[in-house]
Amino acid sequence: MDQRVAERAEEEFASLLKAVRRIAAEVATAHAVDVDQKARFPMETIAALREAGVLSAAVPRHLGGAGCGMMELAQLCSTLSQACGSSGMVLAMHYIQVACIARHGLESEFFRDYLRDLVQHQHLLASMTSEVGTFGDTRSSICAVEREGGRFKLTKDATTGSYCAHSDAILVTCRRDKDAAANDQVLVLVKREDWALRQTTSWDTMGMRGTCSPGFRLESSGPDQQVVPGAFADSAAQTMVPYSHILWSSLWWGIAADAVARAATFVRGQARQRPGSVPPTAQRLAEVAIQLQTMKQNWQAAARDFDALPEGAAGMDELLSIEWALKCNNLKIACSEAAPQIVHRALQIVGILGYKNDTPFSLGRHYRDALSAALMISNDRIVAKSASMMLVFKDAS
Ligand SMILES: Cc1cc2nc3c(=O)[nH]c(=O)nc-3n(C[C@H](O)[C@H](O)[C@H](O)COP(=O)(O)OP(=O)(O)OC[C@H]3O[C@@H](n4cnc5c(N)ncnc54)[C@H](O)[C@@H]3O)c2cc1C
Repeated sequence: MDQRVAERAEEEFASLLKAVRRIAAEVATAHAVDVDQKARFPMETIAALREAGVLSAAVPRHLGGAGCGMMELAQLCSTLSQACGSSGMVLAMHYIQVACIARHGLESEFFRDYLRDLVQHQHLLASMTSEVGTFGDTRSSICAVEREGGRFKLTKDATTGSYCAHSDAILVTCRRDKDAAANDQVLVLVKREDWALRQTTSWDTMGMRGTCSPGFRLESSGPDQQVVPGAFADSAAQTMVPYSHILWSSLWWGIAADAVARAATFVRGQARQRPGSVPPTAQRLAEVAIQLQTMKQNWQAAARDFDALPEGAAGMDELLSIEWALKCNNLKIACSEAAPQIVHRALQIVGILGYKNDTPFSLGRHYRDALSAALMISNDRIVAKSASMMLVFKDAS
């Protein structure tokens, strides 16, 4: 990138970050409690993000987007999640889908046009990887796409589909054709006008209630150019997994950071009541700040490593390595375990005012939201995959 282009990209990111900070403070904060209580979609926040052009941050610059890198996207997600964890998760999941198209679909004119359209109309993209009968294994599908006469047909029973009913399109995993093996998958972009969506289960959960993620039966058909070129095996390893684990970690950190910020406000209030003395809770605050900093450095290091990958095929090849797979798995497990622990420690600092649901120090929503982290692609499942890789991986460093 020449210097002028780089400066323009930096300015554009700075203005997106400023917009997200404003939306977090003025919109997401105002609606977070209602979104959580009613398990409703954070429509005001997503409308404000649309209005500010934040939904196209991950679209490459040559297609009209801001071309944000991993660290920049993570900053946007972590900023928003400090106000509303569900909104941060919706934004992260949307960016993951945009990245899958931007990094694997651009040999197709259809997908280049689709991303130009996304910049103009700020389409919101959702994801359907889960399926009744595959037990949380994103790398296998039962459903298959059928292609005939330039059209596709696809039916899928998903166990969990975040904000599908509020999205403009869904990226759906499925088998390449009816004879393909369970792990021979492709991604299909299903647009709102191409689908009949029937909700099959409820979404009355402990946390992340605003993601609105019940089960759905999707029946769809459309032009077959909406099948993303290449294999999902590659887009999973090279894009979906690193984007998911880094962006999720950043937003889980945002939830934990807001919990610690509430605890810090509480401790300062105590200190003001007894000038000249350090309240005992300040020691606990200092201790939890260490864990929060470690968590932040963990996702930031991964984002920096990702952004430092060589461009083109060399970088894509590195992402297929065991080293990268383990790095992403370790990050996800570490951050998903740290987030609820940090919120728990913030709660011990604040005490009953954090336990109550109607004080400025309430931490119930943070706690419940953070508990989803270890389940969202089960940590046990991830550790089991890491365990088999460890048998053959020799760490060169
Ligand atoms: C907030 C949220 C939003 C989501 N949004 C979406 C979405 O938009 N689209 C989508 O497709 N999905 C979504 N999901 C679903 C998610 O991607 C996973 O599919 C789902 O969380 C896994 O469900 P599970 O626990 O039943 O599955 P499993 O992974 O099958 O786990 C079931 C149980 O088996 C255990 N287990 C699994 N493997 C092993 C192992 N190897 N060793 C030991 N124990 C094991 C687990 O610990 C767990 O107790 C979302 C989930 C959450 C929490």
